Amino acid sequence: MTVLVTGGAGYIGSHMVWELLDAGESVVVLDRLSTGFEWAVAPEAKLVVGDVADEDLVGSIIRDNKVDAIIHFAGSIVVPESVADPLAYYENNTSKTRTLIETAVREGVPHFIFSSTAAVYGGAGLEPVREDARLAPESPYGLSKLMSEWMLRDAGLAHDIRYTALRYFNVAGADPKGRTGQSTPGATHLIKVACETALGKRPFMQVFGTDYPTPDGTCMRDYIHVSDLAAAHRLALQRLRAGGPSLVANCGYSHGYSVLEVIESVRRAFGRDFEVKMGARRPGDAAAVVANSDLARAELGWTPQRDDLDQIVADALAWERILTGKNSARG
Ligand code: UDP
Repeated sequence: MTVLVTGGAGYIGSHMVWELLDAGESVVVLDRLSTGFEWAVAPEAKLVVGDVADEDLVGSIIRDNKVDAIIHFAGSIVVPESVADPLAYYENNTSKTRTLIETAVREGVPHFIFSSTAAVYGGAGLEPVREDARLAPESPYGLSKLMSEWMLRDAGLAHDIRYTALRYFNVAGADPKGRTGQSTPGATHLIKVACETALGKRPFMQVFGTDYPTPDGTCMRDYIHVSDLAAAHRLALQRLRAGGPSLVANCGYSHGYSVLEVIESVRRAFGRDFEVKMGARRPGDAAAVVANSDLARAELGWTPQRDDLDQIVADALAWERILTGKNSARG
């Protein structure tokens, strides 16, 4: 039995590959290397460079490797880009996922795990959001993922395939062993931006909005360590293999931190100050997005091991330093 990880050369996918290998699984990665890196794929995994919508290629990977589960990370993830070019997002995230599901069904792959997002909820409030909350994506990105969830739901009713869709909140941090981390250039995510600023890769950073209806006026998010997220997928795989029914579950820690709290944590980890400017709100940001993660804990038996902002930040900063070394070695 082999697990096919699409997008396994990317940020979350590369952590998933290590998580599976550490658990003794056999892994094949399918990635077209548009944003991922060949070096990010663990050497024990087989890497195939190609597209998830290439039915012949995916079919032969499934047959040749006796794939019994697909964990599907490949996709585009930049919200403003999805607003500027929605059809590209519906193509890359929705149409290609449809083709991949069809190939999985045709080849008889019984288990499918899908990377979904808290963006399916749209603007949430300060209260932790449950899976049965109103679904109102505010961007083509969120909608492209929600449509994929719905395709899985309907395919699961019509065919012999069971799935788990995990809705990620703010994924951050890096492999505590320093084997992989967030490496995409031009990052926009808060913890990555703050670490880059601390290390002098940016002259300063900005806080986007200080007048939100939150305790300190800055936005609150539920930051989850990427290793805990990978563990949730491994547990989802176990549960599906044991015959568990299809599931849609949030992945977050059920509590939020403000932008200022995150920056303070980066200052603590770095041990020195760096320049932070207070700026205007960034269009489209919700005041707070926090998961209710009771369902993942109950259904998957998921017990997060790294629910600690300082640890997430320390791992992210350590990876940022490793990345500096890698990039300067490559010239
Ligand atoms: N943020 C910020 N400065 C930055 C990057 C992000 O103040 O340079 C804020 C952003 O406005 C949001 C929070 O940090 O309130 C998390 O943003 P991120 O882009 O990391 O994730 P999102 O929640 O948008 O998916």
